[in-house]
Amino acid sequence: MIDLHIHTTCSDGTYTPEEVVGLCKEQNIEVMSITDHDTIEGLKEGKKKAEELGITFINGIEFSSDYYGKEVHILGYFLNIEDDVFLKEIKMLEKEREKRTELMLEKLKKYGINLTMDDILEEVTGNLISRTHIAGAMYKKGYIRSRKEAFINYIGSGKGAYIPKENLSPSRAVRLIKENGGLAFVAHPKLISLGEKRTFELLDILQEEGLDGLEIYYPSFSSIDIAYYSRIAKERGLIASGGSDFHGGNRREISIGVSNVKNDVYDTMLKRLKIQKNQLKSEEK
Ligand code: AMP
Ligand code: MN
Ligand code: MN
Ligand code: MN
Repeated sequence: MIDLHIHTTCSDGTYTPEEVVGLCKEQNIEVMSITDHDTIEGLKEGKKKAEELGITFINGIEFSSDYYGKEVHILGYFLNIEDDVFLKEIKMLEKEREKRTELMLEKLKKYGINLTMDDILEEVTGNLISRTHIAGAMYKKGYIRSRKEAFINYIGSGKGAYIPKENLSPSRAVRLIKENGGLAFVAHPKLISLGEKRTFELLDILQEEGLDGLEIYYPSFSSIDIAYYSRIAKERGLIASGGSDFHGGNRREISIGVSNVKNDVYDTMLKRLKIQKNQLKSEEK
């Protein structure tokens, strides 16, 4: 079994990169990928631990992007984490999140919620600030009774203290991954509430950029969903991938390996990667 969608404390998960590798070992996962939101901070640590435990480790990321006001998540795999252009782009995304957090803290003041950037940073375990950490600080300071309340009343999409992130466009995210030499997948396509027409239009655009596949094996997808997206993937020549989207205690009901993804998904990805590498080589000649 494999699991290609895992978050750590470097974004909004509650286990460190080392710990999630340990959890994969317990679940007999043979191939894993850490895919933190907009950061690659945990990959070195994860890879080192995975090597110790004999697990195949794929360098991954989950980019947030926007399309017609909806969030579209793009997964990148087999990343080269020494690529300067890629690293620079990620630094920019981090800065963008900082700016946004400051603006949200301003808005929260109107509700009598007074938090400083330091209060938030106390919650942050990696380089990346997300709304989860704002909710954590609100909870710790006693402004809310549960973290969920933060989203329901204040910082959920469209609520009074919510500010959308300046995200990449989905095509920019795919291009970044492809120019890095990686493989690009649309994460949990059913969660993109764009409707079939716009979703297909989006897939057309992303396939122009070299999109490799769709994440189809996902905890909240029914067998009907899986059949539906498998058909779309097949028709379009896209690879079906999958994972748990494990977040630890921040999504308690999901455990590593729940999506039951089989090793042949990994084999298919490797084949695609090999073709891509050969193409690049012949272009260089
Ligand atoms: P951000 O990337 O800063 O926009 O924050 C997104 C993160 O906030 C997600 O990855 C979730 O972990 C969390 N989140 C978003 N909406 C909710 C919600 N309604 N309830 C609980 N957590 C949420
Ligand atoms: Mn998350
Ligand atoms: Mn996602
Ligand atoms: Mn995720």
